[in-house]
Amino acid sequence: MSKKHSSSFFKDRIIDCHTHCGIEWSNFYLGIHPYCQDALSLSNTVDDCAVDFALVFTMPTTIYFDMFRYWREGKYYTTDNCDFPFQLENHVLLQQITTMRLDNLLPFLSFSLRDSVDRQVDYLRQLVKQYPVYGLKYHTAADQCSAQDIAKLGKSFLEVAEEFNLPITIHCNDDDLCNPLHILSLAADYSHLRFCVAHYGKFLKSFFNELESGKYPNVFIDSAPTISLCFRYGDTRNNATLSLDYSNPINVARFFFDNYSDRMLWGTDMPWVYYFRFMSDTVSNRAKRVSYRDEVLLLDEAVRDKKALSSNQIRFLYGKGEVCDTKS
Ligand SMILES: [Zn+2]
Repeated sequence: MSKKHSSSFFKDRIIDCHTHCGIEWSNFYLGIHPYCQDALSLSNTVDDCAVDFALVFTMPTTIYFDMFRYWREGKYYTTDNCDFPFQLENHVLLQQITTMRLDNLLPFLSFSLRDSVDRQVDYLRQLVKQYPVYGLKYHTAADQCSAQDIAKLGKSFLEVAEEFNLPITIHCNDDDLCNPLHILSLAADYSHLRFCVAHYGKFLKSFFNELESGKYPNVFIDSAPTISLCFRYGDTRNNATLSLDYSNPINVARFFFDNYSDRMLWGTDMPWVYYFRFMSDTVSNRAKRVSYRDEVLLLDEAVRDKKALSSNQIRFLYGKGEVCDTKS
């Protein structure tokens, strides 16, 4: 089984910092494309587009909870599909990558604050010792908890991150629960850990203003997925959002990669580069059809300083220290 690479291995490599594998039953139930992505096809897509590596997470939800019932009744019910949240999903992700030798995929492990935190933590420790794990992922919207709740309900996940020198990527949105300001509060309290605010912090002015305070050197921002986000925000722009021309995704990306050059990470949210509700007539969630290659072409156009990008990627994954060798 392969070991984790040391940080120097990734020098000048292009890493997609935000992709998913698995089945998203919520999307299947709600009639949303896409609802699945398998590891082999992701690995091939990344390779075909000359991207060197992709950080990969499970899908946002876990079959430990009955998601069909959640969408019908708005409440979480547990199932006997597995013993605790993300047990199956994390295991399948790691198994696929290692047994099929998909060496361009670098796994992050998911967790939930809703149930069985201690059992999840024990399992994560076991997996991190056994497999080359590169980070943790938390999906606020899917778990219906805020980033600050991690410190209240799942402090031991933060201890795992510290123990194994793992960064944490956190989903954000422009609502109260998933607001990226919660990630900044968490990052201020845990300044020895590294966090990535996903999805450009949803372009929120309040988030970028707070970032200017200079208090958050441990916070990174990902660009996943630029084209769809710009398309969607073109419709819903309001005073809360930075005033940019969202009809021009290349310029939007360039603005962030130029102005936040010490913390931007390039990512695609593959397979959600293209997002489409096929059981609804609402057009608000439809992006124009976008492929993975479109996001890669955008990277080439928008990111002028590839060296800065590479150094951000390495600092996010390893911090200032060297790789924590888990295979002792
Ligand atoms: Zn995502």
